[in-house]
Amino acid sequence: MYGVITCPRCRTVQGADLSHSRISCVRCHHKIDVVRAVVHFSTDSPQELADAVRRFSDQKRGQEIPFPAPRGATVIKGSVESIVTDLGRRKGEFGLRDLATRLEVDGEELEKLVARLLASGLMYETGPGTYRLV
Ligand SMILES: [Zn+2]
Repeated sequence: MYGVITCPRCRTVQGADLSHSRISCVRCHHKIDVVRAVVHFSTDSPQELADAVRRFSDQKRGQEIPFPAPRGATVIKGSVESIVTDLGRRKGEFGLRDLATRLEVDGEELEKLVARLLASGLMYETGPGTYRLV
């Protein structure tokens, strides 16, 4: 799985192989913690990744180019809860990446979903980007 991330130091948008826990920033060589980085977009296709990096870079320069709707946009609330419950029962502690994969959402949509799940009392945060069922 590949993802579009932003370097926390120099803010350069870049593609990353999400199977690595750390990568070096293409511009400033800062060691980016991939596990904690916000993934704006993720895909299995290197071609789609390249397109997404370009779109996201353009967007940061002030152009409004909308991303395609997240695949999970149609996931209804009930099934989100059952997916998260299932994930929590299987893994105990789970991370943002697990949620992104299981719910098929990323970026802002994922952040909103996590905020809703935390607010609903279904799960709680055990550390930065890690969660457990209540
Ligand atoms: Zn950097």
